[in-house]
Amino acid sequence: MATHQFQTEVQQLLHLVIHSLYSDRAIFLRELISNASDACDRLRFLSLTEPQLSAGDSDYRIEVVADREARTLTIRDNGIGMSEAEAIEHLGTIAKSGTKAFLASLAEDARKQAQLIGQFGVGFYSAFMVAERVVVESRSARLGSDEGVRWESRGDGSFTTERIARAARGTSVILHLKDDAEEFLDEARLRELIVRWSDYVPYPIRMPKGGKGGEWEQVNSGVPLWTKPKETISEDDYRKFYHSACRLYDTPATRIHATVEGRLSYTTLLFIPSEKPLDLFDRERRGVALYVRRVFITDDCRTLLPEWLRFVRGIVDSDDLPLNVSRELVQQQAVVEQLRKQLTKRILDHLLKLAQSSEETERQAWQKIDAAFGMVLREGIVTDPEQRDRLARLARWRSTWTEAEAGRPPTGLEDYIRRAPERQREIYYVLAPSLEAARANPAIEGFVKAGREVLFLVDPVDEFVVQHLSEFDGRRLVNAAHGAADLLEGEGKRALEQKAKELAPFLSFAKERLGDVSEVRLSARLADSPACIVSEGYAISPQMEAMLKRLGQPVPAQQRVLELNPEHPLVQQLAALHAQRHEQQAVEILAALRDTALLAAGLPVPDPAAAARRLQALLTPRAAQAAAGESPGAAGERPSLDATLSK
Ligand code: ADP
Repeated sequence: MATHQFQTEVQQLLHLVIHSLYSDRAIFLRELISNASDACDRLRFLSLTEPQLSAGDSDYRIEVVADREARTLTIRDNGIGMSEAEAIEHLGTIAKSGTKAFLASLAEDARKQAQLIGQFGVGFYSAFMVAERVVVESRSARLGSDEGVRWESRGDGSFTTERIARAARGTSVILHLKDDAEEFLDEARLRELIVRWSDYVPYPIRMPKGGKGGEWEQVNSGVPLWTKPKETISEDDYRKFYHSACRLYDTPATRIHATVEGRLSYTTLLFIPSEKPLDLFDRERRGVALYVRRVFITDDCRTLLPEWLRFVRGIVDSDDLPLNVSRELVQQQAVVEQLRKQLTKRILDHLLKLAQSSEETERQAWQKIDAAFGMVLREGIVTDPEQRDRLARLARWRSTWTEAEAGRPPTGLEDYIRRAPERQREIYYVLAPSLEAARANPAIEGFVKAGREVLFLVDPVDEFVVQHLSEFDGRRLVNAAHGAADLLEGEGKRALEQKAKELAPFLSFAKERLGDVSEVRLSARLADSPACIVSEGYAISPQMEAMLKRLGQPVPAQQRVLELNPEHPLVQQLAALHAQRHEQQAVEILAALRDTALLAAGLPVPDPAAAARRLQALLTPRAAQAAAGESPGAAGERPSLDATLSK
């Protein structure tokens, strides 16, 4: 007998499982049944090409046996089994990607642990929630009857393994139940749990009839749900199927169930969850399992759906693929390519229908999907030119319009156009690191004043989206914080030009003395703020700039323009200061104005220490004034300079 240490992550996980999880303990059963089902899947698949592996026993099944006297619960399967080396590896380490992140999120919030663990499924190790000692006896289908293994642990830091004789292939997991886990010896309770969580496991789950005797009774329905006529399937059936086949435990936002007969024949049953699964950012992951004529082939077929549909869960059962195709080759089958086209179209059609529906439940479903997966769908605008237009129709953002009244859902481009005045040929947006930053960017003030809606693009993917979507239904997408804003017409436009002519010496003075902006100009873009920074020419957002720098990539030189609001007293007084030749003072204030404009746009200030000194110097007289009991701003008709600064 050999003793082995668990991998550190397993130890952490076991610690949580044993010490902090009480409420959702019953999930251990569905996890162990899932593993048993996977083991049967794997052997059934291998037997297609190596029939000798399952020779003598191809009736795959799972058995659940409670023994009141011994206080044990056994979950047994005749699947692929494990060799000793496999048991050491699989039951001593965690291979699943995302596990580290999962553990971190568990450690953060003790109250959410039980719920999270239910969602993630911690697989085998959940056995220690109810068992003080776990024994696994197994034999690989590839090995002889004297090459079985017994694995045993109490869930402390280590486990033991030893070689045993085992007549049958497959695995038994024997749980020596804790004192407070007696309920899992109760037949009725076990049946209830199996029906609730594992009803659609595609193998019979059997329990001994009336206790120990030799007769067995099947507890689950075991028939693949998608093969039943739709009229006979209840909501509850669908829900159970989702739990047991997709292994997610939220209420799905929507589902698609379709049987197609034609050049390509298949049945598909797909769900879109209402919550983000933990592996959403695992781009390799696909949630749709491929079956061929009822036989499970793989749940890892990356070519079955595009990356931007990786959140879709369910199954597709094809009549057209050969059964004995290897998993590696399945990806390259032309049939899979055709399936991908059809499934993608079907899902997109369905989403568009929900998104455009006037029916309340459908609208709500769509809003859930958008909130959880909108970001992932927008990735498709970037990576999938073929679907760009339809995905653009699905894209939703917050905007100056949605924020104007509580309760408005995010908006799409079609609705934007419908609301826009006929002569407006542009769709305006602003890129920002957060909703707050987008809302506060002074560069959009003038657009709001002129009645133009501005979309708030705040997800990292959005910047790529607008790089690939320059037009929508004949309207240009325009960054509201980029280039000159064309907001005025007729009289107003002429007045601004006149003003710019008058102030030309001041504007060129400002540009020259500031040095680090490519232009200083007047603009109608501002309403309440004195100044803003806009980009010009080929520009990237500050977020992108920061990201490129972090990655050590070259950052293209950025042209930044300081725009001034000629209506603002501060700007007027600055121009007056310059006209009176108080140049040094004018430069100090200009620099402070530029710094604040950079900050408001979410950009870094070029010399933060100098900026701080400047601002402190400007504040000193104001503090002195306040201490002397004068109330700034109340003094004269024209607000004083520092009163304006304090606004
Ligand atoms: P997961 O099932 O998500 O991979 P688990 O912790 O539940 O994670 O199981 C770890 C591994 O142990 C499985 O991937 C499988 O290789 C092996 N295993 C667990 N239970 C069985 C079983 N009943 N038969 C064969 N192998 C099993």
